[in-house]
Amino acid sequence: MSVVLTARELTRHYEVPTGLFKPHALVRALNGVSFQLEAGKTLAVVGESGCGKSTLARALTLIEQPTSGSLQIGGREVAGANKAERKAMRRDVQMVFQSPYASLNPRQKVGDQLAEPLLINTDLSREQRREKVQAMMHQVGLRPEHYQRYPHMFSGGQRQRIALARAMMLQPKVLVADEPTSALDVSIQAQVLNLFMDLQQQYRTAYVFISHNLAVVRHVADDVLVMYLGRPAEMGPKEDLYANPLHPYTQALLSATPTIKPDPAKPRIKIAGELPNPLNPPPGCAFHKRCPYATDRCATEVPAFRPVGTRQVACHYAERFVAA
Ligand code: SF4
Repeated sequence: MSVVLTARELTRHYEVPTGLFKPHALVRALNGVSFQLEAGKTLAVVGESGCGKSTLARALTLIEQPTSGSLQIGGREVAGANKAERKAMRRDVQMVFQSPYASLNPRQKVGDQLAEPLLINTDLSREQRREKVQAMMHQVGLRPEHYQRYPHMFSGGQRQRIALARAMMLQPKVLVADEPTSALDVSIQAQVLNLFMDLQQQYRTAYVFISHNLAVVRHVADDVLVMYLGRPAEMGPKEDLYANPLHPYTQALLSATPTIKPDPAKPRIKIAGELPNPLNPPPGCAFHKRCPYATDRCATEVPAFRPVGTRQVACHYAERFVAA
């Protein structure tokens, strides 16, 4: 097992002003998230917007510093790393955003944008850089003449291919993809997802794949982390989680996912109400106001994120949901 990234109890809190002369409120955007990522594997992170997925992405890519917890990249601790070490870690963890257009420079030719990471981080000559860029462009399905074109001359799918090529230029250990296909036409999504998987196979890059779309996650993930209001709700191997979700929130998310062959034996579970205000989260289990199985205990006692079979689950009653 080759672990490339380890997160332990990662936490990110923000202080938010509430008004003149009033104390700041605290938003716990990310609360105690732990996992290990292996080379060549994909961890999908799912949940509603506001669940902490994007905060996690920013912490993993060193865009934001966690409030507490530990993050190791390639076996080295991020906190306490010197400038040169942090630069190397940034190179090892790349990101692909939801909107490829926003992450590409509209005034720079695509070839130059792809060569930029090599220019900054390697001693390759101009000709060597050009060769590497052309090879990567070929891999992601772009033609040689695209080198001289600008981002606006491409379709959404092609732009996401360019963004992916740019992220992969330095062959990072980890790629964090934040909803990378949700802005694309459905017909293009599958092609781009397949490209992600082909590149992963070739370079053994570990992916953190952030998505609200459980059908997409099923296609790409090895393991799945379900988050709710900044906390992990359930984590485990994809097959087990999809076959027998143990957390009521995972059950509800999965039952709301359209399938070609709906199972009449599994009635749709509706989640009542809205995601609670992160400034004022409910006490006890954060899901208790929307959970069909909530008891008095759930309203007062925070469930531990604990092992249940092949998974970790934050529910007092997870064992009840284990399929016989
Ligand atoms: Fe529902 Fe209670 Fe489990 Fe929370 S701890 S998910 S409220 S049953």
